[in-house]
Amino acid sequence: MKKANLIFFLIIITFITFGCTKSIPKFDGERAFQLLEKQCSFGPRNPNSDGHLLCKNFLINFLEENGAEVKTQKFSAEVRDETYELTNIIASYYPQKRTRIFLGAHWDTRPWADLDSVKINHSKPILGANDGASGVAVLLHLAEILNQYEPVLYGFDIILFDGEDAGTYGSFTDWCLGSKYFVNHLAEVGCEPEVVIIIDMIGDKNLNINIEQNSYQNSPELVEKIWKIAAKNNISNFKTKISEPIFDDHYPFLEKGFQAIDIIDFDYPYWHTLEDTPDKCSAKSLQKIGDVLMSYIYKKL
Ligand SMILES: [Zn+2]
Repeated sequence: MKKANLIFFLIIITFITFGCTKSIPKFDGERAFQLLEKQCSFGPRNPNSDGHLLCKNFLINFLEENGAEVKTQKFSAEVRDETYELTNIIASYYPQKRTRIFLGAHWDTRPWADLDSVKINHSKPILGANDGASGVAVLLHLAEILNQYEPVLYGFDIILFDGEDAGTYGSFTDWCLGSKYFVNHLAEVGCEPEVVIIIDMIGDKNLNINIEQNSYQNSPELVEKIWKIAAKNNISNFKTKISEPIFDDHYPFLEKGFQAIDIIDFDYPYWHTLEDTPDKCSAKSLQKIGDVLMSYIYKKL
C-alpha cells in the first residue's frame, strides 16, 4: 500500500471506530442525581400537598426549557374520602416523527409511610427519593440529552405520571391513577406508542433489577432487547431472575394490548418508609439505567 493510501485507510478506520462509539451521547449519573435531590428539596410530593404543586411547576418549566413540546393532562380522583387534583405531564421530542416510544415514571410520592417500622409515622408522607424521584431524575436528564441529540428513527415522549402511589395493598384499586387515566384518553395525546418503558425505584445504591413478571409474560421481546443491551454493556445489575408480578404504570398499557415493560428494583428495604431519602440512592445506579436507555435510544432500535 502506498503511503498516501495507508494514511487515507487509517483516517477511514479512525472515523469508523470513533464515529460509532461517539454516536451514543454520554449520560451523566451525577447530573441525574442532582435532579433527584432537586425533587426531594420540595419535600414529599403527595397529591394536594405544597411539595406536589412546587414540583409540578418545576417539572413543566424544566421540560419546556429543554425544548420539549409539553402538554398537561389534569384530572381528579377520589381516594380515601379525599379529592386528589392530579396532573400527568407529557413532554414530546421530535413530534414530527410518527413512530413514538413512551418513556414513563411517576412523579408523585406516597401520602403515607405505612410500612415504616415506627407506627406513629404511618400517616406521614414519604420523601420518595427512590420511589418517585429516581425514575423522574433519569428521564429529566434524558430530556436534556434528547433536546441536543436527535435519535435516528423514532420520536420519544417522556411521560411523568401522577397518582401512582396512593393505592391499597393487595388490590389494584387506587394505584396507577395517572397511567390508567392516560391510556383511557390517548386521543388527547394524539399518538399511540410503539412500545412503553416505565422506570421506577431504580436509584437504590444496591441496585438489582429482576425481570418483572407481567412485563415478561406480555412483552417478552422488549424485555429481551433491554436485558441484552445491559449484558452487552456489562451492566450486571440486570438479573435474569423473574420477579413476582408488579402492578405499576406499565400495567394499564398491557391491559390495552400495548408492548410495555417495567424496569424496577422492588427489593428496597426503605420502601414506603420515611427512610426513602437521597442517601439510600446513588448516582452510580442512575448511571446504569441511563446507560442502558441511551444505548436503546441511540443505537439499538
Ligand atoms: Zn411506591
